[in-house]
Parts: sequence; structure tokens; C-alpha cells
Amino acid sequence: MGRYIGPVCKKCRRVGLKLFLKGDRCYMAKCPVDQGAGVPGPHGTGRRPRLKDYGIQLQEKQRLRNMYGMREGQFRLFFARARRARGVTGEVLLQALELRLDNIVYRMGLAPSRRAARQFVLHGHVRVDGKKVNIPSYKCKPGEVVQARDAKKSREFSKAHLDAAESRGWPAWLEVDKNEFKATVTHVPTREEIAPVVDEQLIVELYSK
Ligand code: SF4
Repeated sequence: MGRYIGPVCKKCRRVGLKLFLKGDRCYMAKCPVDQGAGVPGPHGTGRRPRLKDYGIQLQEKQRLRNMYGMREGQFRLFFARARRARGVTGEVLLQALELRLDNIVYRMGLAPSRRAARQFVLHGHVRVDGKKVNIPSYKCKPGEVVQARDAKKSREFSKAHLDAAESRGWPAWLEVDKNEFKATVTHVPTREEIAPVVDEQLIVELYSK
């Protein structure tokens, strides 16, 4: 299955939750979810169907997967790794998603959305500990430094987004140096620091069936 290139707001409307897929628009009043838009579709009245147990679990998984812009296969792989790892599976999954390079690039503010961050990484604008890394799913470790390439093109793109991220507040587990366009991963984020908007336990239950 290919990458989704359709209108991303539909994804939020489908699951009834802001997934922050569109960058600056997500923080403005014109966000369709904030405006109360219902589920998308040609025949629908916009009313949300009532879900039973399986549907609720599936919806939580779709929310998390779409939020991080992942395909089903890759998401399942992350889950399988989380299940094998030591610790609470749901929390380990959230941590693995947060430590993805594209997510860190988004969180620190080098790009306005995870999708843009993914593109930014793929196009070679990002360095990790001074070395070029162009793999969006690269798992960063505590102590590693993520930085925009020292080039006018890369840094000019990031400047305004860094300012916006600063005004929203950077995560406690990232030490950001705005002037150097860099962030250090200080530690693996805790569940409280991630503050997930989904119930990850429902995803664990879904994949445990
Ligand atoms: Fe669109 Fe962003 Fe609002 Fe989602 S959160 S509906 S992507 S504007």
C-alpha cells in the first residue's frame, strides 16, 4: 500500500480528534475539528457512528498510527518490538514513536508537521551527532544531538517553525538551542511527558487478540 497523499484533515475528522497533520493551520481557528466538522464522506450526515469494543480499539490504533504518519505494517513492527522489550508495552510503544527522528524534528520545531519533518529528513537536511541521517524512522537515543544542516536553505526553512514551537513550549525531554537549530535528547520521555491523547492500552488489547 502506498503513502496517503489525500486531504489530511479527513483523517482527523474520521477519528474525531486533532492529529496535527497540517502544520500551522492546526493551531488556528479554521481547523475543521475545532469547527465541529463531522465524519467525511459523500452520503454521511456528519454523524459519528456508535462504536463497540473492537471499533473503539481500532479507532485508538488508527488515531495513533495516523498521528505519526505510519503505515500499518511499520506500525505493527513498532508494536512487535515494544512487546518484546522490557517494560509496559503501551508506554514502550509511545516512547519508540516519540524517539523517531522525524518526530523529534517536528517536536523541536525544525518543521511544521510530522509529514513535513519526514520530508525534511529524507532530503538530507538533518544531522544527528554531526552525521547526516536521512531515515525518518531512525530511533534517537538519550544524549544524541539533532540539528538542521548548516546551510542557508535548511535553516531558513526552519526559523519560523522554531519560533512557533518555542511559543507552544518544547517537550521537557528535549534541550533545544534555537540559535544553533539543535536539540539534545536528554532522556527517554515518560508517559506523563508524552501526555498521549489516545489510550494506548486499547491498542495493546487490539493487537493481543
Ligand atoms: Fe486539519 Fe490539523 Fe485540524 Fe487535523 S488538526 S483537522 S490536520 S487543521
